[in-house]
Amino acid sequence: MSGTNTDTTGRDRVWTVAEHLEDVLETVRPLDPIELQLLDAQGCVLVDDVVVPVSLPPFDNSSMDGYAVRAADVAGADDAFPAVLTVIGDIAAGRGGPPAVGPGQAARIMTGAPLPAGAEAVVPVEWTDGGLGAGRVTGMRARSTAPEGAHGQVRVFRGAAPGAHVRAQGSDVRAGELALAAGTVLRAPQIALLAAIGRGTVRVRPRPRVVVLSTGSELVQPGEALGEGQIFDSNSYVLTAAAREAGALAYRVGAVTDDAETLRTAIEDQLIRADLVVTSGGVSVGAYDVVKEALATLGEDGGTGGVDFRVLAMQPGKPQGFGAVGPDHTPLLALPGNPVSSYVSFELFVRPAIRTLAGFDDVHRPTARAVLRADGPVPSPAGRTQYLRGRHDPTTGEVAPVGGAGSHLVAALAHADALIVIPREVTAVEPGTELDVVLLS
Ligand code: AMP
Ligand code: MG
Repeated sequence: MSGTNTDTTGRDRVWTVAEHLEDVLETVRPLDPIELQLLDAQGCVLVDDVVVPVSLPPFDNSSMDGYAVRAADVAGADDAFPAVLTVIGDIAAGRGGPPAVGPGQAARIMTGAPLPAGAEAVVPVEWTDGGLGAGRVTGMRARSTAPEGAHGQVRVFRGAAPGAHVRAQGSDVRAGELALAAGTVLRAPQIALLAAIGRGTVRVRPRPRVVVLSTGSELVQPGEALGEGQIFDSNSYVLTAAAREAGALAYRVGAVTDDAETLRTAIEDQLIRADLVVTSGGVSVGAYDVVKEALATLGEDGGTGGVDFRVLAMQPGKPQGFGAVGPDHTPLLALPGNPVSSYVSFELFVRPAIRTLAGFDDVHRPTARAVLRADGPVPSPAGRTQYLRGRHDPTTGEVAPVGGAGSHLVAALAHADALIVIPREVTAVEPGTELDVVLLS
């Protein structure tokens, strides 16, 4: 953390969004790498370059069910003058086959089976009589009725150049080549490659473990009955879901009552499984804003207050807390309680922090320029960057506000897919104005 919260005149310092984000990202460091089984590493960032140990395919093999032949033996074959070859045996994938195909010979071969010595090409079964030895049988129904391994004859009705229907050793990737570079995010296709080259485990940055707590004595868990003056706890759900979408292993603790000691104990109990703690509520100046009080004595050196509470020049999301708690200096972001403020704060600050912990190069949501579509001028508070919820149409390049500026408007949030960024100094935006938008999906 850097800076103080009073300026040279002693007034409260107001932080810009960029300053607060910079402070968070300067403090949060990528997690130490661990060795994980392939599927446990899904979605994680690879730490080391991975080199191919053995070429793929490891041996020349057939790409079709058919007959392994010498090209010269089938050259010029056609319906009128088929090549008639002696079948010396079968080769199935994963099993041995005849030692070598000599002149005038063929071996029945299945997809993926190793090409026998002597053979140079595979003629698909559809180009043969299927080993029936008499007449022409076309299509996929062409099958030998001879028992497996039985010697017989096959008629071949088309020629095949050397290499036809053969997947050459190393044609996919060669031993010694770079399979995946450090920094690669392991999605399904990358996991396919790692498995194909025989890697059982990889060194990656682990998924950050994020503990989400909401605060507020008015909060009731969804599914329970709502009493007088109570509301459902939506923040612990949206923040946990958003943390998962950002790549974290998120633990939802749920709501803690507005009591500093209870909250302090709850956070302390969670530190064992947290790389990052996110709280919501209790950070403004209300009488029951307990997060400030609780965290004042949960500082990184056991009491001096490692969490800094500050005022940001943004709407929504003006009050924010950030710092480190507990013996491991676990980073903690304390977000405001209003649902929209909480979510917007998550997108702007927590998501980049999670992605930094996870080792991603690109920690930010993509942005775009979009033209404001609205019925009239859209107002915005002076001196604060506004993040209005909007719907972005990438085909027209337009964005339209959804709902108003109120930070309690959860329904509008659910229909938004972008945040419309109205700069700090602007107090009204005319329709047709081009603005930055943060793309949320
Ligand atoms: P606070 O920041 O704790 O003063 O909360 C600001 C507003 O957000 C109040 O109206 C709270 O009731 C509401 N709020 C706080 N936490 C939650 C939550 N977890 N889910 C839904 N609303 C909340
Ligand atoms: Mg509260």
